[in-house]
Amino acid sequence: MSTNLPVLIFKLKLHSMAAITSSLLRNYGGSASVRAFAFANVKLPPPRTFFNYNPVRFLLPFHSRRSFSRIGVTNDEEALAKAAAANADSEAPTIFDKIIAKEIPSSIVYEDEKVLAFRDVNPQAPVHVLVIPKFRDGLTMLGKAEERHTEILGYLLYAAKIVAEKEGILDGFRVVINNGPGGCQSVYHLHLHVLGGRQMTWPAG
Ligand code: AMP
Repeated sequence: MSTNLPVLIFKLKLHSMAAITSSLLRNYGGSASVRAFAFANVKLPPPRTFFNYNPVRFLLPFHSRRSFSRIGVTNDEEALAKAAAANADSEAPTIFDKIIAKEIPSSIVYEDEKVLAFRDVNPQAPVHVLVIPKFRDGLTMLGKAEERHTEILGYLLYAAKIVAEKEGILDGFRVVINNGPGGCQSVYHLHLHVLGGRQMTWPAG
């Protein structure tokens, strides 16, 4: 029988790697602190389950989905925000008007006569819901708020709490309002982002 030397060397390497790994596990696997250290250094993406997978995003063509990479998302968000800011002051309808009118599909979490809450098409957390007023009434952004808006502004926060309760994240969630191009706002119809289902970090980016 002829011995294939490169194959033999490869097998020996595999064998010794397995031996080293099992030795490390034997020696350190029992120590909770070592295991915690090992896990603390592994940055896993937020868990995604079938149930929180967004079918709307899945149906989008690849070129219109935003990148999941951290840098990609940041650059895309900034570019989108800058482009959207050009129409910030036009009272033109936005994509959210189409969602309110049910002209385009959305995954609705909560709705009443004043607000609509639906899943973000580009979720940044296992739970990522947008809460919007059904009547924009000049509230393209928080920076345009006037005294007459105080009731709806308060109600939007209350609706965010209803959403958090419905999504089972009442013990830890975040509400974000992006304002203007510097705040990475890309849709000029006031909206609250309700984020949760993972540990939020601080400071926000
Ligand atoms: P902002 O960047 O704060 O203006 O947030 C706008 C959000 O709207 C982004 O997070 C988008 O992912 C989200 N978005 C845009 N179009 C849709 C859509 N058709 N359905 C659900 N969310 C959307």
